[in-house]
Amino acid sequence: MIRKGMKLYSILFGVCPKCHQESMYVNKNPYVLTDVVKMHEKCSHCNTKYQIEPSFFYGSMYVSYAVGIAFAVAAFIITYNILEFSLTVAFIAIVATLVGFFPVIMRLSRNIWINIFMSYDKTLVKK
Ligand SMILES: [Zn+2]
Repeated sequence: MIRKGMKLYSILFGVCPKCHQESMYVNKNPYVLTDVVKMHEKCSHCNTKYQIEPSFFYGSMYVSYAVGIAFAVAAFIITYNILEFSLTVAFIAIVATLVGFFPVIMRLSRNIWINIFMSYDKTLVKK
């Protein structure tokens, strides 16, 4: 099970990587496109600054490449191998998946990126 204290919890739900108490994002819904990358400056619970250094989240572009590939491979396997559509349909499905999940991929990448540099700290929760 995924629970607080696991890196996966912070990655999937976009919560503060140190205390797991609140969302890093101003708007929890990634499909409000004007707010996709709008983040709080600090965690109001443990005071962790999310942007460790200027342009910190540019690094998440490396991660988004890997996450995008994962989504594309999943789309390909589902349409080509499981549903047994043609290659053309599989290609269209891949493009549609990458466009449709773009906000989710962006946020997942940021969450993974920040979780590479920060870890859960039990002592911050009790404050
Ligand atoms: Zn926090």
